[in-house]
Amino acid sequence: MRPGKSGKTGRTDPPPAAVRATIAAARDARGHAYAPYSRYRVGAALWTAGDRVHRGCNVENATYGATLCAERAAVAAMIAAGDRDPALCVVVTAGPRPAPPCGICRQVLAEFARDMKLLLVAEDDSGKIIGRSSARLGALLPHAFRL
Ligand SMILES: [Zn+2]
Repeated sequence: MRPGKSGKTGRTDPPPAAVRATIAAARDARGHAYAPYSRYRVGAALWTAGDRVHRGCNVENATYGATLCAERAAVAAMIAAGDRDPALCVVVTAGPRPAPPCGICRQVLAEFARDMKLLLVAEDDSGKIIGRSSARLGALLPHAFRL
């Protein structure tokens, strides 16, 4: 699985095996979500140009405002592992429709790859995939904040 062109744009296209592995990681992470308030469990995983996968799940908090989204948890795991350069973000939620990252997560993802591929997957209660869509981060956040 040799990634192609890389850089902070996130334009490296992951090979099919990497896509499958990243989906599996996000689905697994969703199973660990801590969502006692909303019961809306989310799993996310990032595939990086170094052919590594980092996962995260949402971690809710009684204050609500301290809740951490799965996408940002995956970014934190990537950074803590010493990795950079994500090129694919998979987000797995409950169906019926796949859900894109929230605005805060879009900005956090754009910090590391402003146009990475997003693969959005929806599962039913039994864990069966019932919806899937894809997008580019640059299309969802065309004017990301930059310093
Ligand atoms: Zn979010």
